[in-house]
Amino acid sequence: MIKGRIMFGKTPLNVYEEDYIVASLLRTSPFDTFYANERANIRANILWTHDPSLPIGVDFRSTFEADFQTGEIRTIMRLRKVPAHRSHSVMIAHELTHLIVDQQGYKGVGFIDQRYENLLSALSSAFLDVLVDSRLLAYKFDLVKAYKEQATSAFTQARNISPPTEPLMQLLFQFNTLGLLMEWGLVRDQFDFSDSAIARWLKKNVPFLYAEAEQISVYANKHGFATPDKLYHLFFFLIQRYKMEQICYLPPPTT
Ligand SMILES: [Zn+2]
Repeated sequence: MIKGRIMFGKTPLNVYEEDYIVASLLRTSPFDTFYANERANIRANILWTHDPSLPIGVDFRSTFEADFQTGEIRTIMRLRKVPAHRSHSVMIAHELTHLIVDQQGYKGVGFIDQRYENLLSALSSAFLDVLVDSRLLAYKFDLVKAYKEQATSAFTQARNISPPTEPLMQLLFQFNTLGLLMEWGLVRDQFDFSDSAIARWLKKNVPFLYAEAEQISVYANKHGFATPDKLYHLFFFLIQRYKMEQICYLPPPTT
């Protein structure tokens, strides 16, 4: 089932057959319908890898990476555990939909140095995840359940650490909070996020970061990001607001 091995930065990762990764998910609904309808739309050659070194709380991540030797863009799916468990069907559908959204011209903020990967992928995800998840809602994936699990694990981690004091860590916290506010906004008719344990913890322990994240979420929803151009302008605005020009690049939208 191992197809080969690639280097991701300095980390060697084993590559697996897709059939092996998704086998048990194909026996679940609505993943079966989703996969039958959407998989053929993905043009990228996906490298499904096992990456036990993902940051705590992140079990899956899709990464686009330029291979400097061949000039090709590699699409790497990193899973903390392989094969994917059937309870992870929402996450795998989510990662696959990221590829479709990217193909349609919506670009996230790229990192120049791997040190900033977590920060910039938190920022990118805050908006790309909403675009992705709104499509999953159409298939009736249970997002509220998935969000509640994420919020519980975020709360478990947050309550054990002291609020960040270092500027980069504060910004990371803020972007993660923004991501929570944005995604819960999608299902606001089913659950009030501001009442959750993690929201209460954030408001009590990092009130300024929470307020700033809330302000950005209002701004983003007002200006919109449902076209590649609008998303680009939103990222451009935020990169300037937080003076991140030196640590990232913003690919222009492709259509
Ligand atoms: Zn995502």
